[in-house]
Amino acid sequence: MAAIEASLRPLGDEDLPVAAALGRLTASPTHAELDVPRFDASAMDGFALASADTIDASVALPLGAPHAAGQWPEPLAKGSAVSIATGAPVPAGADAVIILEEARLLDRDGRRWLQIERPVSAHRNVRALGEDAMAGEEIVPAGRLVTPDMIGALISYGVGHVRVRRQPRIGLISTGDEIVPDPGGLQNPATIIDSNGPMIDACCRQLGLSAHFLGWAADRGEALDAMFDAVGQSGSGDIVISTGGVSAGPYDLVAEQLSKRGASIVFHGVRMRPGKPILFAILPDGRPYFGLPGNPVAALVGFRFFVNAAIRRLVGLPPEAGVPADVQAKARPDTTLFLRGVMQADGPRPWVDVDLDQRSHIQRSVLAADTWLRLDPEGPPIAYPKNPSLAP
Ligand code: AMP
Ligand code: MG
Repeated sequence: MAAIEASLRPLGDEDLPVAAALGRLTASPTHAELDVPRFDASAMDGFALASADTIDASVALPLGAPHAAGQWPEPLAKGSAVSIATGAPVPAGADAVIILEEARLLDRDGRRWLQIERPVSAHRNVRALGEDAMAGEEIVPAGRLVTPDMIGALISYGVGHVRVRRQPRIGLISTGDEIVPDPGGLQNPATIIDSNGPMIDACCRQLGLSAHFLGWAADRGEALDAMFDAVGQSGSGDIVISTGGVSAGPYDLVAEQLSKRGASIVFHGVRMRPGKPILFAILPDGRPYFGLPGNPVAALVGFRFFVNAAIRRLVGLPPEAGVPADVQAKARPDTTLFLRGVMQADGPRPWVDVDLDQRSHIQRSVLAADTWLRLDPEGPPIAYPKNPSLAP
């Protein structure tokens, strides 16, 4: 993981319209551009009045003509009250609102009156100008994940654009002579369906990243070479990921073909399980390339821990910290284990039940799991949520 961080630099920042920034990380503090509320506003449907007029309650105040929302109200005539809607500006001269449900209305002398029995205190049911945010005030610091509530708040504070971290776009390749894109190809009994392509695409989308599929490549030098021609084109992604073809067999040609094209292999093979053959390279133009093993569980571990580390680095997040957790499993000398597990809370501290089928081709146990447990030869077991997120 440290080798990935050392090889990559954050992609930098960009400005986006607030509504388009969902799932991004803020790159600089954002400030309100409006006072919110923009004016002293009623917090309730009711009647606006001057609290001073109610000191001698009981008292009856004549009601002025109601005004519609969205209109600036006439000043309140001295010694009167006026109906007001939630969120409407409190008229000049008024400083309190009594709510509809508590108001007693009388008809007398051909007009309506508001009967007050007790003094009403100033500011009652009034939202003060700027009490949520004042123009110029910092409302969101740098490094926050943009969420729907933040989009709503920023728009109401008058913010049009936010500065966010640039996000990597991902290019995907599936390799393997036996891989077919859809069930139609299963007529050949020796084929298997490409599940890694859609799975890694979904991993990217779950992080809010856009991924696009560059294609399928057979286990032949020329086929991979043609695919790497496409990788060399602009727009193929800030990170390129392939699955398959990185083990030690005669058909595992990804590393060799990458080297021939001048990529530098940062590592090929990690003492871990599953996913040992994983490859990480830097393409001649400086972009990172991950060769994930084809075994779906190994590909998943490769994305969850290695590609995720690269994504965090590119968006300027620190390395992910899991939580130490107890587990009833033995570490292996020389090998890091990534175990599928279920987080349990019925102890003095969290523990992870890893009593699942841990063989690397079994996907049923990934479905049953909610946690990955990382078990290094030395050091405490660390738990990570099954799916990563870009939350800081
Ligand atoms: P490889 O890493 O190419 O040696 O493949 C290891 C295992 O993963 C083999 O059983 C492959 O058939 C399987 N595999 C490779 N690519 C995919 C894929 N795209 N979808 C599903 N399984 C795959
Ligand atoms: Mg293969």
